[in-house]
Amino acid sequence: MNNPGAEHVPEPNPEPSNFRPRIGVLALQGDFAAHARALEEAGAVATEVRKPAELDGLDGLILPGGESTTFLKFLERDAFLESLQRFVEQKPAFGTCAGCILLAKHVSRPAQESLAVMDISVERNAYGRQIDSAIQTGETKLPGGPLEMVYIRAPRIVSVGPGVEVLAERDGFPVLVRQGRLLAATFHPELSNDDRVHRFFVNIVRASRAPLT
Ligand code: GLN
Repeated sequence: MNNPGAEHVPEPNPEPSNFRPRIGVLALQGDFAAHARALEEAGAVATEVRKPAELDGLDGLILPGGESTTFLKFLERDAFLESLQRFVEQKPAFGTCAGCILLAKHVSRPAQESLAVMDISVERNAYGRQIDSAIQTGETKLPGGPLEMVYIRAPRIVSVGPGVEVLAERDGFPVLVRQGRLLAATFHPELSNDDRVHRFFVNIVRASRAPLT
């Protein structure tokens, strides 16, 4: 982050750090390779995760976009859903688009199973068929000015609980939210050249590894 003094975003790690945390990207479907590239640029070591054992020893995890129903089908194998559940209950996780749907406590249109760790309510495919994919530039509380946001059949976060910080909005609805070590975006930051969102997550991961003082 280039502006540690920014007011409303609690800087996850005030110390500049060269530490490269190991962050997994769930690689069952979707644009995991773009996430891995963005993570490496943002100072992490990225590894692709295709089976439960590959979660071992990771400092954090990205759940990418794709189709959340398809993710759930893949996760039925080898008790992957249960391993993932344990991981996101303890470690930093960042869900984008379908990944955001997987992290949400409440999912509608239609209702479906989720990991239910973030206190947010999400409607799937909420932006309508014609206009559901778009590239927009919007304000964000992340330092560094407006952010490009790529939406692909995006869900809409319709409400957030009190422990959730809204870091960006589109048409009055949250599109980037943080709850402690958990981060979710309804857009695809890995498809833009701006790596601020990945950097922000890498710093959350670094801070969560830091020994308590
Ligand atoms: N519409 C998808 C879903 O409901 C999410 C789309 C995306 O991840 N780009 O899972």
